[in-house]
Amino acid sequence: MAACRTVSLLGATGSIGASTLDLVGRESEAYQVLALTANSDPQALAQLAIEHGARVAVIADEAHYDALKLALAGSGVEAAAGRKALVEAARLGADWTMAAIVGCAGLEPTLAALECGKTVALANKESLVSAGGLMMEAARASGATLLPVDSEHNAIFQCLAGADLAEVRRIILTASGGPFRTMPLDEMARVTPEQAVRHPNWSMGAKISVDSATMMNKGLELIEAGHLFPIGLDRIEILVHPQSVIHSLVEYRDRSTLAQLGSPDMRIPIAHALAWPQRMEGPSAPLDLACIGRLDFGVPDEVRFPALRLARAAGEAGGALPAVLNAANEIAVAAFLDRRIGFLDIASIVESTLSGYSGPDPRTIEDVLEIDRAARRIAADEMESVRV
Ligand code: NDP
Repeated sequence: MAACRTVSLLGATGSIGASTLDLVGRESEAYQVLALTANSDPQALAQLAIEHGARVAVIADEAHYDALKLALAGSGVEAAAGRKALVEAARLGADWTMAAIVGCAGLEPTLAALECGKTVALANKESLVSAGGLMMEAARASGATLLPVDSEHNAIFQCLAGADLAEVRRIILTASGGPFRTMPLDEMARVTPEQAVRHPNWSMGAKISVDSATMMNKGLELIEAGHLFPIGLDRIEILVHPQSVIHSLVEYRDRSTLAQLGSPDMRIPIAHALAWPQRMEGPSAPLDLACIGRLDFGVPDEVRFPALRLARAAGEAGGALPAVLNAANEIAVAAFLDRRIGFLDIASIVESTLSGYSGPDPRTIEDVLEIDRAARRIAADEMESVRV
């Protein structure tokens, strides 16, 4: 048996956290849990930390420190709180870290994990969108291995199998199209948060579910792919594939195209990243193509889903704009979930925030965080004009 590996989970109480701990728990003799983190759910965090024998549990929101300490009393798990403690937990140097905090809030801890030079499994796409260049540079400098967990990027990573990117002609990111793939625009204006978070294929956290419904998720993934697989955004295409069976494709120079397939279960890409470069026994349902019967494909509709156009433009422009796009989207999605704006307002707010922002390109993480804050302020102002 391989030696026991230490693992940390940033965002342990979320959907990706649950899937990861499910896999870790199935082979508990192979993994020792160092740090588990959450934001505002001390009870859930304490329960997971005790169950998995974590060394430390960190709650980002300090207001919940006492509750966490109480819930961990007598368990032997150390309790910590605050942004600084979160970054320190990421710096403990686990052999394998799952970066699964949602949003740009994950940037500093993910970067801290990368700087340790070990393996980081990346689910937190917003950090790569906002600070991709700096993160890839940090990974290069420390010698860290960055493994993509987003199912599309994990699929591309598997299809590449270490091939030279010079051999690749195109990357094709598949998109389910979300719950409103065929809904007319006037109906989309009236959709509720409950409808938006009900994804037809995947079970995910609220923010990424709304991103899937607006297709901003695919736009963020386009920028993410541009950093992970730098062949140029003009050679990364989006293909609508409602069944979410093919998770992405790589076309080589000789026109041979490789695809990765699997049931829509995040434990498949997470298991790939957890066991990499080996494979582990997976608990997910096997793919039954005879039962599925057919696979459909189509082109994305940038009129009903303007987020795709906005993300491609921000990704191509580079500089501060991807971070502005991401921050405005985070603010708008939170407002939609709070019923303060309508569904179609999300992309409008992102668009007006992008137009309203001007500033220099980021050179450091502090610059990115400042851009993030400035874009949130602009987006909040823009929101005043569209409140429902
Ligand atoms: P969830 O909302 O389910 O979980 C988010 C996690 O992050 C929770 O542990 C939450 O803690 C923590 N968190 C939230 N805000 C903060 C903060 N400000 N500081 C520190 N921690 C915070 O999200 P998902 O698991 O769905 O997604 C996580 C990431 O993975 C996202 O970037 C998403 O885009 C990406 N991803 C998710 C997929 C999925 O299937 N779910 C697929 C591919 C990528 P608490 O519970 O206390 O709020």
